[in-house]
Amino acid sequence: MRCDFAGQAVKLEVMGEFDLIETYFKRPARRATLGVGDDCALLPPSAGQQLAISCDMLVEGRHFLSTVNPRHLGHKALAVNLSDLAACGAEPKSFLLALALPHIEPEWLASFAQGLWALADQFQCDLVGGDTTRGPLNICITVMGEVPLEKALLRSAAKVGDDIYVSGSLGDARLALEVFRGRLQVTSAIFERARARMEQPSPRVALGLALRGLAHAAADISDGLLGDLQHILKASAVGARIEAHTVAATMSCAEGAGLRWPDQLALSLAGGDDYELVFTAAADQRAAVFAAAGKAQTPVTRIGRITSEPGLYLVDAQGLAMPNTYHSFDHFHAD
Ligand code: ADP
Ligand code: MG
Repeated sequence: MRCDFAGQAVKLEVMGEFDLIETYFKRPARRATLGVGDDCALLPPSAGQQLAISCDMLVEGRHFLSTVNPRHLGHKALAVNLSDLAACGAEPKSFLLALALPHIEPEWLASFAQGLWALADQFQCDLVGGDTTRGPLNICITVMGEVPLEKALLRSAAKVGDDIYVSGSLGDARLALEVFRGRLQVTSAIFERARARMEQPSPRVALGLALRGLAHAAADISDGLLGDLQHILKASAVGARIEAHTVAATMSCAEGAGLRWPDQLALSLAGGDDYELVFTAAADQRAAVFAAAGKAQTPVTRIGRITSEPGLYLVDAQGLAMPNTYHSFDHFHAD
């Protein structure tokens, strides 16, 4: 794209925009009829499937630290998008990459592309196009997947009496952020594990696929469990009772980290950047849910149930009500 701002061409110079695309972001598309290089990509729709589309943007200083390894950034930019497809039970097919770069640094680009391609290959997701411009570092990916008609997992489908589950572990990514910020201290071994969770999340695509036809509602956890669960409750017009200690116990970096229990609770309940799934399923489907999780090689934990009375109630290990003072991440009310 050519763009003039205040009379100044902001087109990428030196290497050139098109060399850059050719070098780092053009590979033969596997499924697309036409991939990178023309005005549009052409994708053959599959019979009986719906297109599931989502986009997520990563902005330097807001979603990632400027010091992050570019390979990890390439991974994360696609991972957070694949996580949205997972939450809908959609199978990844292709993606678009819109990239604003302050300048062309071949080493940075090669490393970024390496992280991006590795994850794209893992999920056989084709890069079919995008846009490249000069500007403050900003990465926006639009991902496309497929889900059979009527099979998408929606936020609005939770039912009273459903069990509520989360995948994997919660709170580790936020622990790493708080260590970066100097607010918490842990050993370097624990920090490295937490940092891997923050910088290289694993999108739960296999679990989302295994939960088709089994889970009722689902969402991915990007802003913190309680906040993302609230979206399900609102869309489904129901409430929830959550066992806070069970959620906190999922946190994989907590053991030996010397965390205070209130910190472990806050990180796991509302930390954010987890990219796990929160989902609901009928109480008589417990065995089927654990079988699906086993098939997807993804651990899941039952953390509570859906109630008819609205609101989100936290209980402790004794079943006593706990105050819900946790705030999930909101870019316009952020700390
Ligand atoms: P246009 O002028 O129509 O906007 P561009 O010149 O921006 O197209 O892009 C040329 C081709 O390169 C298009 O096929 C576009 O989809 C692709 N492209 C541009 N940037 C990227 C990128 N970062 N990654 C992948 N493909 C890209
Ligand atoms: Mg064009």
